[in-house]
Amino acid sequence: MEALAAVLDAPQERFRLRSVDIARPGPGQVLVRVKAAGICHTDLIFASGAMGSPFPLILGHEGAGLVEAVGPGVAHVAPGDKVLLTFDSCGGCPTCRSASPAYCHSFMALNFACIDAEGGSPAQDPGGGRVAARFFGQSSFASLCIGSARNVVKLPADADLGVLAPLGCGVQTGVGGVLRSLGARAGSTLVVMGGGAVGLSAILGGGIAECASIILIEPRPERRALGLELGATHAIDPAAEDAAVAVRAILPAGADYVFDTSGNVAALESAFAMLGPRGTLGMVGVPSALDATLRLPIVPAISAGFTVKGIIEGDSDPQSFLPELVALHAAGRLPVERFVRFYPFSEINEAIADAHAGHCVKAVLRID
Ligand SMILES: [Zn+2]
Ligand SMILES: [Zn+2]
Repeated sequence: MEALAAVLDAPQERFRLRSVDIARPGPGQVLVRVKAAGICHTDLIFASGAMGSPFPLILGHEGAGLVEAVGPGVAHVAPGDKVLLTFDSCGGCPTCRSASPAYCHSFMALNFACIDAEGGSPAQDPGGGRVAARFFGQSSFASLCIGSARNVVKLPADADLGVLAPLGCGVQTGVGGVLRSLGARAGSTLVVMGGGAVGLSAILGGGIAECASIILIEPRPERRALGLELGATHAIDPAAEDAAVAVRAILPAGADYVFDTSGNVAALESAFAMLGPRGTLGMVGVPSALDATLRLPIVPAISAGFTVKGIIEGDSDPQSFLPELVALHAAGRLPVERFVRFYPFSEINEAIADAHAGHCVKAVLRID
């Protein structure tokens, strides 16, 4: 079927909107007519070529739309259903079977390889050339995309696809990171480093968890202000003062949790001075140097019982957790519309540039 896709022909080029042919859904697959797709930092990493991806390539991994058709063996959605797309997983490995699909043994192959195991792709140029379109099992910067039974999640009929699109990656990473990965308890204390879409979602997660203190560390004044409006109890400018000293002034015993979305090594190392007894550092921010390492002060880590935890997708099990987030949004407890900015599909390059420069918190493309 003919679709309009934002194709990246080579690393760091502009996206070009052009016609591609999308295959019919195979066994276990779902063809989705995409109506909206969020832009996430991981799109920018893959667009840079740093991951060695095949080109030409269709990115996009926060898709939302309507089911167009389902392949054999797909029973949980039907044509016409509103759906969210999220990360893919195999369903059969030990971590998938223990409801932790974010750590699927095949996560890299299913989400990052951008082509299937045989080297094929559901998208082709009109001339027949392969266009890689299995990014996060979706490649949703296109008017049609192929998802799987595991990464297509049914939405209520009245769902707002544009506002909810970012739930599929950034929002579930932030909210799930606090609720599921850190397991934040009522009355606990949380520091969030970085006030982008994931960090602001973590602040909302801290509110849902009823954390007693939620401290945002963020250099941009407008994002500190937004964080405070969304439930942060304090905001610290790390350019103006030593963030660890400022956290200790608020929490003399240290924080229960530090949630890092910055990927900044110096910021991460300062987290050890912020953590209190039995504190946990949760890491979701990917550093610009993919081989970056962290210096861990061993004796304080032992004596205070620190935990350092890497986090993918907020430890989400999407078929159950995304509907929980949709219900929280409907109840007014997850106002993601406060940090979403919409762009027409034709302005994808402007949206990417704004996301890269931090001029918007969460860019969402409207695709028709
Ligand atoms: Zn798996
Ligand atoms: Zn993402």
